[in-house]
Amino acid sequence: MRQSKFFMPTLKEAPSDAVAESHKLMIRGGYIRQVTAGVYAYLPLGYRVLRKAESIIEQEMDKINVPEMIMPHLLPATLWQESGRYKKYGPEMFKLKDRHGRESLLGPTHEETFTEIIAKNLKSYKQMPMALYQIQTKFRDENRPRFGLLRGREFVMLDGYSFAATRDQLDEQFNDQENAYKRIFKRAGVSVHPVIADSGTMGGKNSTEFQAPAAIGEDTIATNEKGTYAANLEMAKSIDTFKQDPEDPKELAKVATPDCDTIEKLAKFLDVPATRIVKSILYIADGQKVLVLIRGDKQINEVKLGHVLDADEVHEADTKDLKEITGSEKGGVGPVNADWADKIIADETVKDLYNVVVGAGETDYQYKNANLDRDFKVDEFADLRVANEGEPDPVDHLPLKFTTSIEVGHIFKLGTYYTKTMGADFLDQNGKSKPVIMGSYGIGVTRMLSAAVEQHLTERGVAWPKEIAPFEIHIVQMKMNKDDQTELAEKLEKKFSEKYDVLYDDRKERAGVKFADADLVGAPIRITVGKKASDGIVEVKRPTDAKATEMSIDELDKFVN
Ligand code: ATP
Ligand code: MG
Ligand code: MG
Ligand code: MG
Repeated sequence: MRQSKFFMPTLKEAPSDAVAESHKLMIRGGYIRQVTAGVYAYLPLGYRVLRKAESIIEQEMDKINVPEMIMPHLLPATLWQESGRYKKYGPEMFKLKDRHGRESLLGPTHEETFTEIIAKNLKSYKQMPMALYQIQTKFRDENRPRFGLLRGREFVMLDGYSFAATRDQLDEQFNDQENAYKRIFKRAGVSVHPVIADSGTMGGKNSTEFQAPAAIGEDTIATNEKGTYAANLEMAKSIDTFKQDPEDPKELAKVATPDCDTIEKLAKFLDVPATRIVKSILYIADGQKVLVLIRGDKQINEVKLGHVLDADEVHEADTKDLKEITGSEKGGVGPVNADWADKIIADETVKDLYNVVVGAGETDYQYKNANLDRDFKVDEFADLRVANEGEPDPVDHLPLKFTTSIEVGHIFKLGTYYTKTMGADFLDQNGKSKPVIMGSYGIGVTRMLSAAVEQHLTERGVAWPKEIAPFEIHIVQMKMNKDDQTELAEKLEKKFSEKYDVLYDDRKERAGVKFADADLVGAPIRITVGKKASDGIVEVKRPTDAKATEMSIDELDKFVN
């Protein structure tokens, strides 16, 4: 590809509203342009990267025998009414009416569509296990679209759906997908932690997020050094206690310490190690005389990390307040998930700031009237915890390290939720009718590209991982009016194009401009054809090299291949 013909509008400066480095790079490099908030045009450079990522996905899905297909973007509301999600999904759904007044929507995800078209057509156990996927534009009216492709309102997603007759089949499909996803991220050069993302209502692990560590990430994951534990923050803090009623706990008090908007800051404020906050729901910190309720709030990194009552408020907190706070008759922890026995809660006697109650199960709280200082050293809280069955208990894996990260993928064992509510049954071996068992699997393809950039920034640009680089080789000719340079550059372009994607900078531009643009293209190999062209000598540089290296054409051949 001749660069003189390649539409790549580069900029010296990133627009002032771009915060994320990947966003800046993609705008400056002419990869994308915003059309409206959270909606982007993929220019030739950006589209090449996208297509490469898609092709990795296609190859890896082929390997696990999952065929590709495509569903419509425009969906009838009736489909979502059937599943009960039309109302539940909330304001993120783009809704519209057609000319006859029928309600429609633009697909934010496709569980319903796949249940309707695929699951309902699987009539016998003999047709399963079966899985399908698509790579498709999704629409979500995000409250705060931002960071370029990281949180768009229109974005490309790989979404896959599996259909099984037995739970074992589902487990196997989930494993296949998980392994394929690991290979996809590896090939795309995105380093990820697969983390536990759900408590497993179906028993055992039923949801994994793929989290790519990056400073700009909106999520936080907890991992330990031994590598025996990795979970998203919600899980690590066992916040699913409140899951049954995500709106809860009620606004129990103002956030008394507006500075405590991260775990680290809160820990510092309480003068306890950050690891102590991992699983505590209600925490009574001696000395500081504060009561802390850490919520399962996704915006944990923003402001609502926890409610902190100051000492006076705590003294005033009577049983009624605590009942309200926790939604429990006993003034303890609210809707208690039977799986959790480690409720560290406060009852009305908290007035003196020393009594804690340890809940042990859904209905049967074990009250323990204890002096925090005397009976429990803060570290001994750990002993009171019982892990959720089938899940590693974070406490066994302390100390945990918190890392901000980007959710690039998410896989679920859905079970029979959709097939039951939408009536997708099959006949099992004994001729008995049963609901199809489903799984769903997603990668934010465009988000993944931003994650790749975030993880591979260089001083002046990006070092694209080889398999998703827009071009593998970038030939930069210094002076277009020198025939020896043109001859060599054209020869190299012809030769390498047989095997690689080559961009040839044949523009009549200054060297400085060419090099600056080349940093933004970020090809794994840059070949500069300059003064020594007539001697058959070029300069070679990888984006991460501090300096270019002179090479003969023979050496170059070896280097490239
Ligand atoms: P998030 O928590 O970041 O809002 P999500 O959990 O709502 O993401 P899923 O429903 O799990 O997203 O969708 C599957 C994948 O699609 C996500 O793992 C993510 O990589 C990607 N994705 C979700 N929302 C967006 C978005 N607004 N822009 C780009 N990619 C997205
Ligand atoms: Mg979301
Ligand atoms: Mg999420
Ligand atoms: Mg998700």
